[in-house]
Amino acid sequence: MAELRPYPFGALVTRMFRELDERQSVFDLPLRKVYRGDPQRDLSARFQGHHPSTPLGPAAGPHTQMAQNIVLAFLGGCRVMELKTVQIMDELDIPRPCIDMETVGYNVEWSQELKLEESLDEYVKASMLIEMLVASGKLDLAPGYERVVFDMSVGYDLKGIQTDRVQAFIAGMRDAGTVVDRLRKQIPREFAQFRDLDFATKLSDTLTLSTFHGCPPEEIELIMRHLLADLGLHAIVKLNPMLLGPARCRGLLNDTLGYTEAQVPDTAFENDAKWPQVQAFCERLGDLAAERGLGFGVKFSNTLIVRNHRDMFPASEKEMYLSGPPLHVLAMNLVGQFRATFGDRWPISFSAGIDKQNFPDAVALGLVPVTTCSDLLKAGGYGRAPAYLSNLSKAMNACGASTLDEYVLRAYGKAEAALATLGLAADDPTRAACLDALAKGGDLAAAAVERFADWVSAAKVLNTEVYVERCTADPRYAKAQNDKPPKKIGSHLTLFDCITCDKCVPVCPNDANFTFDLPVDSIPVERFTYRDGAWQRSEGAGFTTEKKHQLATFHDFCNECGNCDVFCPEDGGPYKMKPRFFGTEADWRLFGTYDGFHLRREGEVEIVMGRFDGQEFTLWAEGDARRFAGEGFAVNVVDGAPTCEAPDEGQVVDLTYFHVMEHLRRSILHTLNYVSTRQDVDARQAE
Ligand code: SF4
Ligand code: SF4
Repeated sequence: MAELRPYPFGALVTRMFRELDERQSVFDLPLRKVYRGDPQRDLSARFQGHHPSTPLGPAAGPHTQMAQNIVLAFLGGCRVMELKTVQIMDELDIPRPCIDMETVGYNVEWSQELKLEESLDEYVKASMLIEMLVASGKLDLAPGYERVVFDMSVGYDLKGIQTDRVQAFIAGMRDAGTVVDRLRKQIPREFAQFRDLDFATKLSDTLTLSTFHGCPPEEIELIMRHLLADLGLHAIVKLNPMLLGPARCRGLLNDTLGYTEAQVPDTAFENDAKWPQVQAFCERLGDLAAERGLGFGVKFSNTLIVRNHRDMFPASEKEMYLSGPPLHVLAMNLVGQFRATFGDRWPISFSAGIDKQNFPDAVALGLVPVTTCSDLLKAGGYGRAPAYLSNLSKAMNACGASTLDEYVLRAYGKAEAALATLGLAADDPTRAACLDALAKGGDLAAAAVERFADWVSAAKVLNTEVYVERCTADPRYAKAQNDKPPKKIGSHLTLFDCITCDKCVPVCPNDANFTFDLPVDSIPVERFTYRDGAWQRSEGAGFTTEKKHQLATFHDFCNECGNCDVFCPEDGGPYKMKPRFFGTEADWRLFGTYDGFHLRREGEVEIVMGRFDGQEFTLWAEGDARRFAGEGFAVNVVDGAPTCEAPDEGQVVDLTYFHVMEHLRRSILHTLNYVSTRQDVDARQAE
């Protein structure tokens, strides 16, 4: 099974800035798609005492696992990073593929696939890269659009969270000074101007608790108490859609929305916390947080457990987790239930089926942050995020709101009704000022003065009622509109050439897939046999590259989630069929069941190690000299033919793979990609 490998920080910095200068893109996201902010409006939100520049975030998941993912989310406009959940069991064996985005979105994912210490490093790297990008001025952000909040996520039980390593992770996020100092030294000389940046070291003081489906409510409360009382963190508890109860949950999913095939097992409800239990622990935890001057909140929602009725995941997986459009409706109904009980007493984070269309609605309900995952796994990837924010700007513009609070009041026309709930007398001047500001498009905050927060709170609750009813009845969330898999065209991928639609590049959350150029060529299948004192050549069909533009996968970033296979119009899966490049020789050897390549430089020599159908070859190139070796042979290649001292009579050398490896060497080591950048940085450090 593939394993994610963190990329050295110096190489990541180099790749990011070189790409920005040479290609006007960052980690394969074109600069023209980067969200620059809205200079006309203030989209900043309040979250656990912080003021992120937008309320948008990537949900804890595949988009917040590695440093480059988090940078890509930032470039898309996300400013609240819900970091992928970490836990003490950090050597997981996760089934592959683990993401199924053919229709609504299912997964069998779990927590971070990196070690705890590596996760800490990745999050610190991401924070530093973002700060360097902002400091470079190359993003041309609107003023105030650089503020980011990192929200930790830990799981899954108190015993695990109290272990030294998880506690060290949390402490490291709260004070990352040591990691920052270590990484600062790794910034290459070429970018020395960033070495003295005043990098943030207090990376996070807020944490969202993720518990297993079926975690007892007593355990959830104990963990939350530990986070609040012992650690002094702002803490959010992520709740499950099963909280709706079997009748309402199944009624919405199977009957109202029509997903009859998605069956929630009885055990999912039996084992989970029930509404009265959740209600009670929220009261107690909210009080505890208030006593300590900390923030408490809830998050809707975790994914929904359903039986594995599809054939994407291994049959051994009896259950899988549903997300996407149907979860949006379930989670919004939970928000409705929670607000009907508690009003706007505690902040709510929201993540369930968010996309560019419903993002402005979720913001109109005062949910912060509003995070997304399934939608960013679709064609366009992180490049889909800016449309969320431009749609929010349009919606704010349409109702004349210049801040998010004003937008909450004006979005659904509920401001007057909300004002009526504040108990202001008919002749109260504040009431008159608010009505006047509403009618004339005036400043609502200035009109309401100290009652503004209450007014906004009341509007959040009223907006929630409107939207829950509307989304539940909206056919865009029903099965009929979410049942079509991405189109396949019936052809099968091969090592080179495809329809070059490039969809596989942005749909990879880790930026593992990349493009490179190869000369259009016909590579002969060449066998040389040493007979009667000379090499005899025989020829076959050969390898043909009909297109200059080719696709490849960087093994170190590919966890075989399967997402690029779903969106590739051809069959076979880009990550399985296209050339696979390993960052280190050790990994090329370790993952010996994978075909693929490792390329590196040693002084003036360029080395390519290749594996084809399990057969291993090595190519050395120095100036015009080429040496090629495989099992049982090692030859020099001169003018396209093998030479060696005293070859054995009958010795066979197949040069087909020599040509493939030589083509790849010329392209991969001499253009910008994760393989060549790492080699360059290593070589410079060795100088
Ligand atoms: S290359 Fe494909 S399979 Fe690998 S991580 Fe990216 S999307 Fe998933
Ligand atoms: S591998 Fe598939 S998704 Fe990638 S460019 Fe080729 S056809 Fe498109």
